[in-house]
Amino acid sequence: MQRFDGLWKSKRSNVIECFDCQRKQEVSGAATSTICPSCSAHIDLSDYKITTSFSRSIRTRGDVHVTTKGDLSSSSVRCRRAIIEGRLRGNLDSAGTIVINTSGKIPGRLSASEIVVEKRAEVQFFRRVRVSNMEIRGRMSGEIVADGLVTIRKNGVLEGTVAAKSINVEKGGVFSGQLIIGKGHLQQAELLPSETAALSKELSIGLAPPLPAT
Ligand SMILES: [Zn+2]
Repeated sequence: MQRFDGLWKSKRSNVIECFDCQRKQEVSGAATSTICPSCSAHIDLSDYKITTSFSRSIRTRGDVHVTTKGDLSSSSVRCRRAIIEGRLRGNLDSAGTIVINTSGKIPGRLSASEIVVEKRAEVQFFRRVRVSNMEIRGRMSGEIVADGLVTIRKNGVLEGTVAAKSINVEKGGVFSGQLIIGKGHLQQAELLPSETAALSKELSIGLAPPLPAT
């Protein structure tokens, strides 16, 4: 494990939240730790670059980068943002975005405000993924619970179950499985012309046959 050398380095200050009491404070972008002014808890702000096996817990308001040779098996990882290019076997909770640019099984629990499955990624999520928004540019299978928008880009493939406020399948994208739309309006009403006003309707749509494996 090494400290990041500036993948997302920012000179600006950040507003961060205490893990224990949720008190917010402003910290310098260069700081690697701070103390909560309310409860005196230590707050890690450092970035972690995982280049080999790593199994200790991480709780940071900084970023986590698992490189192609990295193997992150900690049972608990909390961070601000994450890039996964190697193996991820434990649970990961990101306040911001998780970018997944790897292939294989993802057995842990993932939650984030946004998850992006990159173009060359091909992943199987074994546990429910909790997000606000999800963007699929590669291929994935699993179950997504989103309180916002799930977008399947051109050439993106999603097989599984989606419960979301809305879903947007771009031309050339494929969704096959179960779709549960609730608490919101559909982005692409034309996909489901009779369901635009329906809440929490459970429906199955097969927009296109799954693409052959490449
Ligand atoms: Zn605190």
